[in-house]
Amino acid sequence: MPDYSAKMGEQGGQKPENKGPRNVGPAMKKPIDPKRVLQILECKRKVLAFVESMLEPEVTMEELKAGEELICRQDYDSIAQERHILKICGYPLCPNKLTKVWNQRFHVSLKDKKIYDVEIRKLYCSVRCMETSIKYRNEQVPDQPMWMRLDDIKMGPDGIEAPTE
Ligand SMILES: [Zn+2]
Repeated sequence: MPDYSAKMGEQGGQKPENKGPRNVGPAMKKPIDPKRVLQILECKRKVLAFVESMLEPEVTMEELKAGEELICRQDYDSIAQERHILKICGYPLCPNKLTKVWNQRFHVSLKDKKIYDVEIRKLYCSVRCMETSIKYRNEQVPDQPMWMRLDDIKMGPDGIEAPTE
C-alpha cells in the first residue's frame, strides 16, 4: 500500500504567507532610554577617574574604599596592571617600587611552599601584598560593572540623575 501521508502533507500544507502587517509589537526591542545612556557614560567617567587616582603611589584605605561602589573586579585588575607598568606595587595601599625582573613563568616559594604564576606575582612587591590585594578584590569588589548595578547605588549630590523636565 502506497504511503500517501507524506505527499498529502506536502500538497495540502499551506505555505505560511505573511499577509497582514508584520508583527513587530512584542518582539520589538525596547528603545534605549537616553537617560540610561547618559548614566552609563557618567559611570564610566567616574570609574576612569577613580582608576587614575589609584595610580598614585600613596593611596589611603579611605580612598580605596571610596571606590568600592564604583569599580568592578575588572577595573581593580587594571589598577594592579597599570601600577605594575608604572613600576609600583599593584596593591594600591603599598607604595613600594617594583624592582625585581621576572624571567621565569612560575615562582616557587620555598618559604610558603607554594608555586605562584609570575604573571600575577610580578604585579606585586611581595607575596603578602599579592595575597592581600587578591583577598580584597574577591571579598570587597563587586563582580559587575557599576552601570549594571545602578539601581542599588545611591547617587551623591553630584549624582547622575538627569533633571526631569
Ligand atoms: Zn607591595
